[in-house]
Amino acid sequence: MKPPSNIQEDKAMGDLTWFRSGGLARFYLAPSSEEELIEAVKWAQREEVPFHLMGLGANSLFPDDGYPGLILHMTKFRQRGVFYRHCSPSVLEVDAGINLENLVKKLNEAGLGGFEGFVGIPGTVGGSVWGNAGAQNSSLGDRVEALKILGSRGEVEWVNGDQIPWKYRSSGLGNRIVLAARFTVEPDQDPEELKNRSAAFLRYKKSVQPYDDKSTGCIFKNPGAGLSAGQLIDDLNLKGLCEGGAQVSDLHGNFIVNTEQTATTADVLALVSKVQKKVYEEEGVRLEREVIVVGEDSK
Ligand SMILES: Cc1cc2nc3c(=O)[nH]c(=O)nc-3n(C[C@H](O)[C@H](O)[C@H](O)COP(=O)(O)OP(=O)(O)OC[C@H]3O[C@@H](n4cnc5c(N)ncnc54)[C@H](O)[C@@H]3O)c2cc1C
Repeated sequence: MKPPSNIQEDKAMGDLTWFRSGGLARFYLAPSSEEELIEAVKWAQREEVPFHLMGLGANSLFPDDGYPGLILHMTKFRQRGVFYRHCSPSVLEVDAGINLENLVKKLNEAGLGGFEGFVGIPGTVGGSVWGNAGAQNSSLGDRVEALKILGSRGEVEWVNGDQIPWKYRSSGLGNRIVLAARFTVEPDQDPEELKNRSAAFLRYKKSVQPYDDKSTGCIFKNPGAGLSAGQLIDDLNLKGLCEGGAQVSDLHGNFIVNTEQTATTADVLALVSKVQKKVYEEEGVRLEREVIVVGEDSK
């Protein structure tokens, strides 16, 4: 089947995910506008091609044997030169393709508070809203006033934040596509104070997480009841455990790193199974994977 001319075929994806693993995408597009995205989704639906939204791939693994559908890579999905638009002094509209780390920097500089604790979370706004990313006892969902959503029948609508079933690291959005978000911020804050707070959070994050290594962020969700996946893994002395090129980080038990950049996605998944088995056998706790494997949730 011949795709429209803006859609590439057989695109190597390894370098486009944060972890740096995986094979080819059968079809690939980095849409820069709503029209381009909607046309591509319509084409995929018409041709019965599965499709998958990808941001920075900072919480995703790409299959080694490739993905037989269309990757919609959202990193260019933004109005050129604009990080956010003011709806009111305390509500901002941000496109899904905006880089969250850059957004935090811009908001801090503008004295708009509330995002300084999200420093050091690599991702796009769309991917981070989808996964309800967070840190410092706060999640992005807490800041969402409304989301601009593309539904499965091609309908575009604004949905109020309080209608989204936010949970820990989940928005419940399923196969709906985030086009933009309206976030609440705290105006008139001291930029230096916001920057200092972010700098302190980032320093701490770098001291306890392998921030500069290739990883997927936390590989498991915290299992609830006050338990920490990282602590459980640490208590069982699983730090440093390897499978092929993938290794449980020496710094943080809930990170799997690709230090030599030779790890495959299969290595990570084998290591994940090993850790899950050990933790279940020794502690009776079932660890649930936080990281997504592209294709498991084809939209
Ligand atoms: C070093 C490091 C530190 C991290 N620290 C944190 C942390 O402190 N807190 C935290 O919560 N996470 C953390 N993470 C994980 C990761 O940064 C977040 O999950 C981030 O929000 C992922 O965004 P992304 O754009 O890369 O999403 P991706 O991994 O590209 O995608 C994740 C999911 O979102 C979907 N998606 C992407 N864009 C859209 C869209 N526009 N509409 C609908 N669905 C979409 C994808 O289909 C996929 O299902 C860390 C990761 C790393 C590597």
